[in-house]
Amino acid sequence: MFAAMRSDRMQAVHLFADEQTGLEAIIAIHNTRLGPALGGCRYMPYATTEQAVADAIRLARGMSYKAALAGLEQGGGKAVILRPAHVPNRAALFEAFGRCIESLRGGYITAVDSGTSPEDMDCIAQQTGHVTSTTQAGDPSPHTALGVLMGIRSVARAKLGRDDLSGVRIMLQGLGNVGYALAELLVAEGADLLVSDLDAGKVRLAVDELGVKPVAADAVYESPCDIFVPCGLGGVLDSHTINRLRCAAVAGAANNQLVDRDAADLLDARGILYAPDYVINAGGLLYVALTHRGVAAGDIAQRVKLIGARLDSIFAQSIAEGRSPAEIADHQAEAILYGD
Ligand code: NAD
Repeated sequence: MFAAMRSDRMQAVHLFADEQTGLEAIIAIHNTRLGPALGGCRYMPYATTEQAVADAIRLARGMSYKAALAGLEQGGGKAVILRPAHVPNRAALFEAFGRCIESLRGGYITAVDSGTSPEDMDCIAQQTGHVTSTTQAGDPSPHTALGVLMGIRSVARAKLGRDDLSGVRIMLQGLGNVGYALAELLVAEGADLLVSDLDAGKVRLAVDELGVKPVAADAVYESPCDIFVPCGLGGVLDSHTINRLRCAAVAGAANNQLVDRDAADLLDARGILYAPDYVINAGGLLYVALTHRGVAAGDIAQRVKLIGARLDSIFAQSIAEGRSPAEIADHQAEAILYGD
């Protein structure tokens, strides 16, 4: 564990157990140079505790990078609760977790992530104020969608020489909370929008309500377009899918779109501009962090809109230095976090 902490430059990993509720939890704090660590709480079964710790460490590091490039005075952290086979009282389990967070005295602020809900955050809020994304706080997805729209505009400027999206052909994969809100924004911008989702009902709704064109889920990669926008699951871009792409750029909300760093190099080699996922999808984090600080909605939207300017700078530096945008983004984040 210490080797993993060293290689990811982790600040601290806290382990918690509560006999009464069966809680077993990990809170990983990557870096608090910019402010208290903020990051979601996962609730899922793991084969081993080591895998859960490794997941928390990897995800916490990602949150530091995302917060740094979003211009937030916020560090990176992540929590993992190991889901027991049998949970007699879910509310009590999350309340116990709230007491764990409270014991860190504000060093870590939690939020919704895979397997947790705003209702779980309400239970945590019974025990600590260091919690966001409660039922009262509101859904961050529309803010993520707004940030992605800004990123798509940046990509269109850099790659297509376009200041607007009118007639720009966009292939949107995934019509969930973020994808559907983004589809509405793109249609309002006059984009020529193609959509796909594994859920036929969501596709039908988008076709009926927004007048977009449907594409079969297994045909999205070779579907000719200007910009491919992944808003479904992560891990969609590997050598196999990248070689099928017939687009000029990739710019979407999904987390961890690239399977590895080689995927960034392959996109670069194919001349496909890639908007680093943790930069373009930071709108939700901005919303969660800034609402927690009591910032007004209008001011939050202005901060989300700065995602476009951040990507402009990453693309300009990428061209100037002949390195991929993914590498430049990491480099910019590390300069902020460590002064490297
Ligand atoms: P969601 O679960 O609401 O929606 C995901 C949608 O993608 C679903 O409709 C699902 O059917 C569809 N999908 C999954 N695999 C697909 C495939 N292969 N082809 C077509 N459709 C597919 O999730 P969401 O909240 O909209 O988030 C979307 C992505 O953005 C996720 O990767 C998430 O981690 C990331 N993200 C979300 C937020 C946020 O604010 N919600 C913030 C940052 C990043």
